[in-house]
Amino acid sequence: MSGIRRGRTVELCAEDADPPPALSTAPPAPSVEDDAVLASVRAGDELAALGCWEEAYHKLRVAVELLEADPERPQPMRAELDRLRREHARASEQARRDSLTASYNRRYLDDRLGSLLDDPAVTRVGMALAMADIDHFKNVNDRYGHPFGDRVLQRVVTELDTGLPDGAFCARYGGEEFALALPGCDPVQAVEVCERARQRIDRHKWFELDPDLRVTVSIGVAHTIASPPDVEQLLVGADVLLYAAKGSGRNAVAFREESGAVALAGPARARRGIPQPTLF
Ligand code: GH3
Ligand code: MG
Ligand code: MG
Repeated sequence: MSGIRRGRTVELCAEDADPPPALSTAPPAPSVEDDAVLASVRAGDELAALGCWEEAYHKLRVAVELLEADPERPQPMRAELDRLRREHARASEQARRDSLTASYNRRYLDDRLGSLLDDPAVTRVGMALAMADIDHFKNVNDRYGHPFGDRVLQRVVTELDTGLPDGAFCARYGGEEFALALPGCDPVQAVEVCERARQRIDRHKWFELDPDLRVTVSIGVAHTIASPPDVEQLLVGADVLLYAAKGSGRNAVAFREESGAVALAGPARARRGIPQPTLF
């Protein structure tokens, strides 16, 4: 893929890169004389300045590898190598984070879900994927304004991130919607993790932001034991269950029982009229 950005053609530049804080674009130290290293460093710096973090990361990695390959390089060049290593690590981290919430972003989610296909824990007990969406969030923005809504989003992420089992992670899927990836979790564990997250958000000290504020989330949890897991089907399954949780009255975790029936976790279990979307 190629695209035009700020008047330049950039190969393989991701279109939806988040805008994290700028990397240092300081020119390479004059002591770096090797053409190949210089070319990679310059390309990396240019890509970083354009916000193409992944591509910058790869260019900087090439430069690091070239420098590392020659232990006889003079001291000034070793200092440049250290700088590149730091920039390289930072570009890699920035490329995977959402700038508002510091949660993992959609790109990281897609990459990790792809790599989970070979995860031994997933092969053993399968994996769960949950979609969490803030209830009536538009009302929060309408009443208190977007900057306030942003602070609510940050606190929701903190609560979603808390107490996740090893190997699990939270990623911002888009807007006020978050994915919880739970590799190696069985269906019961996955529902428990999500119900605890829902309760934490329900019980959060929202009065610290405003005495009248209350924030809840609805969550749909899908599970598969297929090996490798069908990630797209999991996402669709979790989304369907999320809307069942919304349809049941919100502030609930929806999942499928072994029979295929949709049920709610915790105190919401007793609700009547839980939507029963068909399996696809
Ligand atoms: P529901 O319970 O059905 O999910 O209702 P809702 O109001 O949460 O859903 P709706 O899709 O109507 O509104 C989502 C809102 O989320 C609208 C949008 O402005 C807001 N939103 C999305 N991303 C951000 C963000 O980064 N910051 C802020 N403050 N608001 C955001
Ligand atoms: Mg919502
Ligand atoms: Mg939404």
